[in-house]
Amino acid sequence: MAPPPLVDRFGRVHTDLRVSLTDRCNLRCTYCMPAEGLDWLPRADVVTDDEVVRLVGVATQRLGITEVRLTGGEPLLRRGLPGLVARLSALDSAPDLSLTTNGIGLVRSAAALREAGLNRVNVSLDTLRPERFATLTRRDRLTDVLDGLRAARAAGLAPVKVNAVPVRGVNDDEIADLAAFAVENGYLMRFIESMPLDAQGAWDRDRMVTAEEILDRLGERFDLVPAARRGNAPAEEWRIAGTDAVVGVIASVTRPFCGGCDRVRLTADGQLRNCLFASEESDLRALLRGGADDAALEAAWRSSVAGKGPGHAINSPGFRQPERPMSAIGG
Ligand code: SAM
Ligand code: SF4
Repeated sequence: MAPPPLVDRFGRVHTDLRVSLTDRCNLRCTYCMPAEGLDWLPRADVVTDDEVVRLVGVATQRLGITEVRLTGGEPLLRRGLPGLVARLSALDSAPDLSLTTNGIGLVRSAAALREAGLNRVNVSLDTLRPERFATLTRRDRLTDVLDGLRAARAAGLAPVKVNAVPVRGVNDDEIADLAAFAVENGYLMRFIESMPLDAQGAWDRDRMVTAEEILDRLGERFDLVPAARRGNAPAEEWRIAGTDAVVGVIASVTRPFCGGCDRVRLTADGQLRNCLFASEESDLRALLRGGADDAALEAAWRSSVAGKGPGHAINSPGFRQPERPMSAIGG
């Protein structure tokens, strides 16, 4: 029998869980974190594989979660990731498993991850120009990412999505080029509006490239036709006329989709967040390590979701950026 839905006071049913497996990263994307990196979590604070499997088990068996996306930081830095994926996909209540990664190292692990039960992958790629990639991510690793993308496709991970965050004056002149690259290679391109979730607190609305601008840039090169209805998915999608290729735009800031939000997030140190922009967290790790049973974990989870706010306040004058940056929440 299906468990009662994980529902909040606005009637939103939550079926999608993002699990951050580490806050560490091997890139330093300028819109995400500073050059020197961050004060990473002590290893003892990071939830173990056993703890991740237990929490995902509770989420899928007792709370109606059906989709789990593994993220970070950079999730491929987590040791033994294919083993963890295999354990999650062996659960009786196994969710649809996907991964968001910067693609570095994917060339070595894509086949093992697919074999272990991973279904889909999103690879972040903001530029196709090696020098610009090195400036934007502060590491000269474009080739690794491109190789990782090809390996994901060859391994049968499908669809392979490419995520790009356009920033004005940095890579906004490559919007159509990135889409063309994705179309040529059979990847699904998605553009994401930059959000005030960088660790430096330096987000600047004027440097954010809006969905409208992204669509204008795409429209200069392609004939776009609205694709299937959006439902709860944050991406609005367009088909490139005359092809099967689809391009998505995630307009978190200018066209918020909070009213249809179906997500909850677990940080690498076992804190449950009911929103990217939440100011409070529920400490599931303390419960786990204190010997809580599944019913207690379920109750804490339901109570966190019950307290979820109506939406983010990025566009309100009193907006305060959450203390945790995107890389430590799990994007
Ligand atoms: N390291 C992996 C990666 O880059 O795909 C996973 C974690 S990263 C935080 C997840 C996604 O968040 C990436 O697509 C990244 O581009 C995006 N991201 C990071 N900082 C962002 C910001 N300030 N606004 C919007 N998206 C951001
Ligand atoms: Fe690392 Fe992803 Fe942040 Fe880039 S966006 S620094 S790859 S966590």
